[in-house]
Amino acid sequence: MMLHPGIMWLLIMFAMVVGIIAQVRVTSVFNRYSRIPTRRGRTGAEVADEILRTAGIDDVSIDRVDSYLGDHYDPTKKVLCLSPGVYDGASIAATGIAAHECGHAIQHQQAYAPLKARMAIVPVTMMASRMLPFIMIGGFMFGLFRAIPGLLDLGIAIYAVLTVFQLITLPVEFDASRRAKLIMTNRGIVTLDESSGAAAVLNAAALTYVAAFLSALFHLLYLVSLRDRR
Ligand SMILES: [Zn+2]
Repeated sequence: MMLHPGIMWLLIMFAMVVGIIAQVRVTSVFNRYSRIPTRRGRTGAEVADEILRTAGIDDVSIDRVDSYLGDHYDPTKKVLCLSPGVYDGASIAATGIAAHECGHAIQHQQAYAPLKARMAIVPVTMMASRMLPFIMIGGFMFGLFRAIPGLLDLGIAIYAVLTVFQLITLPVEFDASRRAKLIMTNRGIVTLDESSGAAAVLNAAALTYVAAFLSALFHLLYLVSLRDRR
């Protein structure tokens, strides 16, 4: 396979632009719908508690974390971490995100295969991300990719790990949002018109994961193209 480094570089730039657009969209859509209260008036924490209890999950705790849009589910500690705006907010955005994080807890409860696979490769992914800056700075700024032949292969291996991780993240995230949308409408947590706002927030977040995958993939292909040029 012969890839052209110039074209790969353009693709990296493209992924970067998609990433920036995705970030801006997430923030603006979240801000818009966090100003609109739901008719039921429940906070994100209350919604999460309700969804978890209905799903028969009683060993997952709900914590407030001080990080804007830092909402996530930690499967190792079985903690649903909600940012202040989501935890205390009774808005359409807060409800959507709380339901999404519950979607991850339900995936965990049901041993959803992509989530299990993602958990399994977290340690190697963390190691790869820690090594990455040294490899890239050494490789490009100090010309070590030319001096040490194995270094480029190491960079390729690291981006391969990151690409696989971002790829497995996609079904995990899409599925959590799919579950959230179903639960919210089926259980009457949101009304029909509120559900489109909640969906907009979740869809905007989904684009950031697509951008992260594209970025890892194009970096991988770029390094492969450099090796092929040798
Ligand atoms: Zn998620």
